[in-house]
Amino acid sequence: MAVPQNKITRSRRNMRRSHDSLTAENPNECPNCGELKRPHHVCASCGHYADREIVAQADEIDLDEDAA
Ligand SMILES: [Zn+2]
Repeated sequence: MAVPQNKITRSRRNMRRSHDSLTAENPNECPNCGELKRPHHVCASCGHYADREIVAQADEIDLDEDAA
C-alpha cells in the first residue's frame, strides 16, 4: 500500500485548502414565471430565456398528436 513519504504540515494542508471554498449562487427572478433561476441560463420551471420559450414543458406537449 502506498504511504506518504512526508507529513503534510497543518500549514501546507491549509494552503492547499485555501482554494476549496464554494461561492454562493446568485439567483435572478425569471421575468416570465417569477421563479428563481440561474443568471444566463434557461429557466428550469418554465423553459423561457430572453422572453422566448426555449424548452417545451412536459405538460404542454400533446401526446395524441404523435399517435395520429
Ligand atoms: Zn420561468
